[in-house]
Amino acid sequence: MSLFGTGLRRICAVAAASAAAEMAKLVRSALRQTSTVELRLDWLSSDAERAQFLRWLRKCRPHKATFLATCRRREGGGKFAGGVDHELYWLIQAREAGCQWCDLEVETLHKLPGHSVREYPVPPRVMLSVHDFERTPDLPRGVNLPAHGEVDAVKIAAEARTIQDSVRLLRLARKSKSFVAVPMGEVGLPARILALREGSALAYAPVAAATAPGQVCLDEMKNLYRAHALTRGTRVYGVIGDPVGHSLSPLLHNTAFVARRLDAVYLPFLVRQLGDFLAAVPDFGVRGFSVTLPHKQAILKHLKECEPLAAAIGAVNTVVVRNDGSLYGCNTDYVGVLRTLKKKLQIKGSRTLIFGAGGSARAAALALARAGAIVGICARREEAAKELARSVGGEIVPRRALRTEFFDAILNATPIGMHPHDGISPLSSGELHCRIVMDLIYRPQRTQLLRLAAKKGIATVSGVEMFLAQGIAQWEIWTEKRAPEAAMRRAVLAALRAEENSQQRR
Ligand code: NAP
Repeated sequence: MSLFGTGLRRICAVAAASAAAEMAKLVRSALRQTSTVELRLDWLSSDAERAQFLRWLRKCRPHKATFLATCRRREGGGKFAGGVDHELYWLIQAREAGCQWCDLEVETLHKLPGHSVREYPVPPRVMLSVHDFERTPDLPRGVNLPAHGEVDAVKIAAEARTIQDSVRLLRLARKSKSFVAVPMGEVGLPARILALREGSALAYAPVAAATAPGQVCLDEMKNLYRAHALTRGTRVYGVIGDPVGHSLSPLLHNTAFVARRLDAVYLPFLVRQLGDFLAAVPDFGVRGFSVTLPHKQAILKHLKECEPLAAAIGAVNTVVVRNDGSLYGCNTDYVGVLRTLKKKLQIKGSRTLIFGAGGSARAAALALARAGAIVGICARREEAAKELARSVGGEIVPRRALRTEFFDAILNATPIGMHPHDGISPLSSGELHCRIVMDLIYRPQRTQLLRLAAKKGIATVSGVEMFLAQGIAQWEIWTEKRAPEAAMRRAVLAALRAEENSQQRR
């Protein structure tokens, strides 16, 4: 059993607020999800707020919960302006209010006589914390607690500049029982989620929204990623890209794993260098991953085998890691377009225009041409349009022809109109002569292009349909099971709706 118990107790909610009342609210909310809570006393704006909060804690604290008090000084990366004595004073007060643990920065320990905190009546159990907000330093081979029992656990929180940095921290967690690994920054986020399964005694999660890149809020840590339930047997999947922070793929895939009760998790990997991620695949136990910009083409040369269709498109968005560690690549954007359009249009024999000549335009053009459509390409760079039209046996359509020519369907495969540029459309109303307009963009769901089309009575298809279809196809490739499509759709549509509502409120 870990130092903090098992299961959910190993997810430590972080309560941090400037006012005592707000802090108490966060603690109450945290206790609905876990029973281990860190109290960031240094975040409270004054001694009066600290005193008021600790009075509340003494009166209202549930006895089964575990509280860690932290009053981190600025020197250690916290907000507390006071000196060492003042920090110790508040930790002593925290013990009197019922805190069983305290977090003590290494900078403070070094200032104490004999480098020991034991003669101070701080909470009985002490976590020694080391922070590096710049990099992951050279790490020891193992973490041995200082002799004479000055501390009960050691925490290293370090900025992961590379995925390999976070792997090094996790390796340490595997070897040391009384150790807490906190990879920081967006690159470190997957390792932060996997830390518990590697043996870290705790994983930290802010109660409310994340306040720094790489943090995962309590609700997501527990319900989306199920960090407390992951084991070495859990199958790990993910998406690699840069940027990757706003991807809805973790929601899509994890929802499906939960619905089908599969021991698997899907994580967002911010990948700047493909080699950095690929070297970590065995350490993380990754079994498959989605590939997004800017790695869709570059991944090809790392594959042992590639589906001929993906090779023809020249881009891979789905990778399977085989048992021998080799990589197999395919492209589900292709089926995403087909499955979506098939519901609305007899593709064979239809005349379809694709606006744009980039990666997704290529997948769409190939899919539609192979399904028997006559494909037209219109793009701002004539050369790119020509090349794509030629490769799929289609026609190049000059922009001016859009004013007069009729198509069964027009697809936008450019990013024009994507949030935050919601108000603009790649094509004008006078250029829309067709029965169906499909926008590959899914943020917002209803783009300006779709609005213009709807105004003219043209049927519209949102990019969210393609996003769902390509994701569902990925999930089925990895798991060889039928995907719970309704649950996946519900989760993604609800998230997009919530996002759009909050943007409107701003
Ligand atoms: P990409 O490879 O970068 O291609 C973008 C294309 O748009 C290029 O032809 C580019 O032309 C053109 N373009 C960009 N800005 C333009 C402008 N201001 N005027 C005219 N043309 C412009 O990107 P992609 O991967 O194909 O993605 C395109 C869009 O599809 C993105 O919004 C993406 O989010 C969306 N998408 C959605 C899904 C889904 O599942 N729904 C899947 C994949 C992609 P140049 O080459 O001249 O720059």
